[in-house]
Amino acid sequence: MALDILIENGIVVDGTGAPAKQASIGIAQGKIAEVGNISGTAKRTIDAGGLVVAPGFIDPHTHYDAQICWDGATTPSSWHGVTSVVMGNCGVGIAPCRPEAREIAMRDLVNVEAIPFEVLDAGITWDWETFPQYMDAAARRKPSLNLAFLAPLTPFRHYVMNEDSLERSATAEETAKIKALLGEAIDAGAFGFSSTILNQHLGFEGRPLACRNASRAEHEKVDIPSSKLKVRLAEILKDEGFIKNYRLIEDKKQGMLRVYLKYGAGNERIISGLVRVSKPGRRVYVAKDKIPTILGGMGVVILSTSRGVMTDRDVRKQKLGGEVLAYVW
Ligand SMILES: [Zn+2]
Repeated sequence: MALDILIENGIVVDGTGAPAKQASIGIAQGKIAEVGNISGTAKRTIDAGGLVVAPGFIDPHTHYDAQICWDGATTPSSWHGVTSVVMGNCGVGIAPCRPEAREIAMRDLVNVEAIPFEVLDAGITWDWETFPQYMDAAARRKPSLNLAFLAPLTPFRHYVMNEDSLERSATAEETAKIKALLGEAIDAGAFGFSSTILNQHLGFEGRPLACRNASRAEHEKVDIPSSKLKVRLAEILKDEGFIKNYRLIEDKKQGMLRVYLKYGAGNERIISGLVRVSKPGRRVYVAKDKIPTILGGMGVVILSTSRGVMTDRDVRKQKLGGEVLAYVW
């Protein structure tokens, strides 16, 4: 095959976990065509003697949102073998943004990411207002790396709610607008959206980053592919008061399990924690006299036993042992 690029003499670490080996890599039409002992020539040959040749690293958590304005090379990631970065993490970012909200967006970044205000003020070019425009602006920097954009919830809330976003959750109407804007961002190629619930994420004026005020009660229900086990788990969660209800929807395949979520009077979530214990690679079994409790009995342990899936209370009553599936509290 006619090669476009030949990388010779490198030590290849191929990312599969295989040992490093001396090999050449031939590239044709933008793809790796050969790895090994390659004889023949290419349009361009690169001598990688003394160097490691490896697939690029993906950095899933970066904050290049501002830096991309003045540094298309996205350093130092590009110096370290990173070839793709995910930006816009932690619900903080600079798009969408109207001119009057620029200072708030910058102060958020100062407080969350410790980027000096002077740097942001001098460096951010603000040649956008909407998120799709921001993505176009980033593309104009001809970035050296692949940029994966997360649409950060904070500026979206600002954009729709103005400074109220710093104080309260969104109304149904505002939520619909935020949702439509996030949809536009995703349609323009954003990878997803980001938010945070971490207490240390303080933004403008040391106040909680606006996305932390987002209501958790934005989903009334979730649909998941069903199974016998999932239906039984839903039944237990309902009996224990963790969810409102569930329903099985036939779809001529495995069926969909619709779970109706439950929230408190102040829209607070009812499930504070859920940990899956036994996993395919690491099963956790307990004997009948070793049945665990969670939070002194405030939470529920779900176990799979010879008589079916049940809570730790029922397991104790029936004097059974079993596999610990999950803790819920
Ligand atoms: Zn972050």
